[in-house]
Amino acid sequence: MVGEDGSLSDAAERFQVLLQEQVERAKRIGRPVEWLDYAKLDRVVIGVIGGDGIGPIIAKETKRVMERLLEDELRSGRVEIREIGGLTIENRVKQLKPLPEEVLAEIRKCHVLLKGPTTTPEEGSGMPNIESANIAIRKAFDLFANVRPVKVPSQGIDWVFFRENTEGEYVLGSKGFMVTPNLAVDFKVITRPGSERIIRLAFEHARKTGRKRVTVVTKANVIKTTDGLFLDAAKKVAADFPEVKWDSWYIDVFTAKLIDEKRRRDFEVVVLPNLYGDIVTDEAAELQGGVGTAGSANIGARFGMFEAIHGSAPRMVAEGRGAYADPLSLMRAAAMLLEHIGMLEKSRRLAMALDVCSLYEGKVKVTGRPDGATASQFGDYVAAALSDPHLREKWESYQRG
Ligand code: NAD
Repeated sequence: MVGEDGSLSDAAERFQVLLQEQVERAKRIGRPVEWLDYAKLDRVVIGVIGGDGIGPIIAKETKRVMERLLEDELRSGRVEIREIGGLTIENRVKQLKPLPEEVLAEIRKCHVLLKGPTTTPEEGSGMPNIESANIAIRKAFDLFANVRPVKVPSQGIDWVFFRENTEGEYVLGSKGFMVTPNLAVDFKVITRPGSERIIRLAFEHARKTGRKRVTVVTKANVIKTTDGLFLDAAKKVAADFPEVKWDSWYIDVFTAKLIDEKRRRDFEVVVLPNLYGDIVTDEAAELQGGVGTAGSANIGARFGMFEAIHGSAPRMVAEGRGAYADPLSLMRAAAMLLEHIGMLEKSRRLAMALDVCSLYEGKVKVTGRPDGATASQFGDYVAAALSDPHLREKWESYQRG
């Protein structure tokens, strides 16, 4: 840091080091990578990590439901579900590492990961200040896309958000500095290859699922250089998808339109830079029934991590309500995982069972409190729905209203 009247050379030097790192990162991202083709694997290994707080409770139920769904594949060896231990706050604090080496080595032996939430120590918690395990995994596997579907059929809401997961305000989030005692500076970094790859994934998703429209959200009218680059990348990528319509919105008015009941039905696939995506996807999940109901995917070219969008809810556990945690979020993530590895029928069946159990029929209601069902009772309910030979007809009749 320099004094109020001192030279800026110290700050300029630090800035230069950061810029150099980012130039290298942009080059790295720009190199072509071959995507892992899950269809070509003889055996797909799905890692399951319980995590902290309510994590092991909801992960246990999700694993049980997956085992019911994949009975044949598990028997034939086409799929293996492998539990990975050690990603607990106790172990991470003991080793002073966000992601202990032996845990990372086990994750590397899997093709995809289903992960329960993990606690990140915060200031004043009395724990050492270690980085989030999630960020460490995202970095280790370059999981650049955070994908979050949000569905409320009764209101015509069926959105899929593609949040850029590695850039924006977050890439140098802990590298900002006080230039003078009265001047704080953080950095926002957006690269062309980083923008193009997330935008392309969003357009490909629209093409694959028959959705007709991609909405690109920025604040390019004010944040002209970085958001301007994101928008420019969208224009280029969109040209490769002539059958998909696209439009550009500014984050302020887009956020307002998400609560405009008439207008919001028009949104389908939405792609946004990191910080906007972080905020808007929590807002969208709230419309669906809260963070306990939403799953998310972190996708890279050669690995995918699937998780709930909420955290480890330590207060629920401390108050003895852990058993009443809603496992729906992680079960939705499991459906996304199955789609990602190409098991489309299985994924659809799980999604239908979850829709019937949570959105339509709702005979077993989880409230997060003892006035509702336990995670385990909900697990039983979903497992029974999966075994129902009339599940599809039931789901279709609910869809027709
Ligand atoms: P949180 O999402 O864990 O919990 C907030 C509240 O939401 C809870 O008190 C509870 O009332 C409710 N809730 C969350 N999940 C629920 C569920 N499945 N069923 C019923 N109710 C549920 O948020 P927090 O308390 O801010 O974070 C706790 C810890 O989790 C922190 O250490 C944070 O860093 C971490 N975290 C981890 C992840 C992740 O691993 N992906 C994500 C977010 C937060």
